[in-house]
Amino acid sequence: MFGRGGPRRSDNSKYYDILGVSKNASEDEIKKAYRKAAMKNHPDKGGDPEKFKELGQAYEVLSDPEKKDLYDQYGEDALKEGMGGGGSFHNPFDIFESFFGGASFGGGGSSRGRRQKHGEDVVHSLKVSLEDVYNGTTKKLSLSRNVFCSKCKGKGSKSGTAGRCFGCQGTGMKITRRQIGLGMIQQMQHVCPDCRGSGEVINERDKCPQCKGNKISQEKKVLEVHVEKGMQQGQKIVFEGQADEAPDTITGDIVFVLQVKDHPRFRREQDDLFIDQNLSLTEALCGFQFAVKHLDGRQLLIKSNPGEVIKPGQYKALNDEGMPQHNRPFMKGRLYIQFNVDFPDSGFLSPDQCQLLEKVLPQKSSKHVSDMELDDCEETTLHDVNFKEEMRRKQQQQHREAYDEDDDEPSGHRVQCAQQ
Ligand SMILES: [Zn+2]
Ligand SMILES: [Zn+2]
Repeated sequence: MFGRGGPRRSDNSKYYDILGVSKNASEDEIKKAYRKAAMKNHPDKGGDPEKFKELGQAYEVLSDPEKKDLYDQYGEDALKEGMGGGGSFHNPFDIFESFFGGASFGGGGSSRGRRQKHGEDVVHSLKVSLEDVYNGTTKKLSLSRNVFCSKCKGKGSKSGTAGRCFGCQGTGMKITRRQIGLGMIQQMQHVCPDCRGSGEVINERDKCPQCKGNKISQEKKVLEVHVEKGMQQGQKIVFEGQADEAPDTITGDIVFVLQVKDHPRFRREQDDLFIDQNLSLTEALCGFQFAVKHLDGRQLLIKSNPGEVIKPGQYKALNDEGMPQHNRPFMKGRLYIQFNVDFPDSGFLSPDQCQLLEKVLPQKSSKHVSDMELDDCEETTLHDVNFKEEMRRKQQQQHREAYDEDDDEPSGHRVQCAQQ
């Protein structure tokens, strides 16, 4: 609300006086005047909030050709009608920030009263399967969020207006001054407790019955999240401005962070896929064929080339059967297959069968040991080992011993060790 004292004589010079410009000042001159005065009178710099607010209002009217025209011709009262009866001006801080492009004095801006702040983003993790990111999919998710009350459109009142808070004169802030020394005054600024920084109060009888003056209500909403082909683990899908709505707040985003579940058969690295495949020794030597069910349900027939021998640990690859690239889903990575060869257990071959095999397989290496050398050799016995397990146990033991030794050393030595 503006101008509380009933209709007055039409006055159309006040805003020019506030900005200190003449009535035929150019757009540029008005801008310059506001910039200079608003910087000087900003409450963050210790300026008077009321003066700062006046400057904002004057600039709001004089910088808008339509409002300026109304004001020039009919004065302040016509302007109030033109603004829909309520005659509400924008928050002076908003005007200031939109003028200076957001940044004011580089401060934190937490307790500066009624200024638009950024609402928090709501982050969810979205679990998807590897099939989902291979084929692309749409997930429907039901969320509840705060929205502006539909009945009062977020005004909080039946009439759609709110009274100016008496405690802070609508600025949302209060300033207390305290003399702390001879001629020294400490000025403290804090959020108005009466209106909690909103600058306005709603009459008890005028409160919206649906939200009881809170301006917001809960809404259930189903979001359709499009998971595109080739999206990566950790990639974000953002719904801008869909988080909780709140007064004087720029609504934050809802963010889904993709979490791709492990797949029992396929492993992914960027745009490539990996699978492990066991082959029998016979398959590794004499050829193989098997089917792999791909992530889109296709059965791929995979077979060796004639005469091909596969070695344990060897990789082969299928081109264009990896993951589709995000944004270029027609481009696909490779599908790598790592082969493991299952050898038969000991005792599988009889001595006769061994002799038969020896005729087929590559010749035994004759240079390993000659008969002459054999006479000089000692007999030994090979034992089975679980190599990894034994190494692990040895390392543990070494670690323990080192620790025990440390305990016997004077403490100064230990400090040295720790610093290395
Ligand atoms: Zn309401
Ligand atoms: Zn207040």
